[in-house]
Amino acid sequence: MKVTKTVEETRKLVKAWKQEGKSIGLVPTMGFLHEGHASLIRRCREENDIVVVSDFVNPTQFGPNEDLEAYPRDFKRDSELCESLGADLIFNPEPEEMYHDPHAFVSIDLLSETLCGKTRPIHFKGVCTVVSKLFHIVTPDKAYFGQKDAQQLAIIRKMVQDLNFDIQIVGCPIVREEDGLAKSSRNTYLNTEERKAALCLSKALRRGMDVIHPQADASEVLGEMRAIIEAEPLARIDYVSMVDALTMQPVEKVEKDVLVAMAVYIGKTRLIDNFSYEV
Ligand code: AMP
Repeated sequence: MKVTKTVEETRKLVKAWKQEGKSIGLVPTMGFLHEGHASLIRRCREENDIVVVSDFVNPTQFGPNEDLEAYPRDFKRDSELCESLGADLIFNPEPEEMYHDPHAFVSIDLLSETLCGKTRPIHFKGVCTVVSKLFHIVTPDKAYFGQKDAQQLAIIRKMVQDLNFDIQIVGCPIVREEDGLAKSSRNTYLNTEERKAALCLSKALRRGMDVIHPQADASEVLGEMRAIIEAEPLARIDYVSMVDALTMQPVEKVEKDVLVAMAVYIGKTRLIDNFSYEV
């Protein structure tokens, strides 16, 4: 497995692989890899000749008061995991390699304004920018994203369509801990008490999945879910919302495919989770 730090050396390797007629799969990550990331890398391994994993904590998707500095990092462990999963290349640039001020940005407005975009106004602009850059650098045939970040996945699909990237976007299911908590690099911030409290997210989701039905009122479904989270003293709701699965705009009734998504603070840690419902 190769490790690259620069755009130039990454391009050189990719070019040689392409000249040999090999297909390229990309898994973009911010590192501190866990089973959720591993599921994407495995799927990528099955479907492509070459597997590229990017491991880059992207500064432009963090707001001024967010956890950029504290975000967990362990490149040695990440590279061992990638190697064991059969990855061919990890692209691990420094921020200075990726950004020179002033820098161009990519944004997909409407879909980025709801859910996480309300609390994190610059987040998806940073995501679209770094993912566009990775797409141009790695030129993959397919790129793999988790349903865990459902709004991100919808935005990337829209970006690929709007900007005519010739890349197939593959969405992968949410990987959970045995007790239901969605795996996340940020789970490492939780102390023992908070870890227990964090179960209110997956409990609320299960309740939502039980009560949702075609023509259901969003307020009824969301009310049931909110009640479970509000019963947990360490939890504070950022949002619990139902949106159209494609446009990410709020809906009042289940008439088309929807995304039911939440962000909840457990202590200082902001966790997200969601489920999709197809009519
Ligand atoms: P991150 O490193 O958090 O930016 O995540 C990189 C990719 O892994 C994104 O496409 C995430 O949606 C995906 N991912 C993170 N956690 C999970 C999970 N628990 N299950 C499935 N995919 C995940």
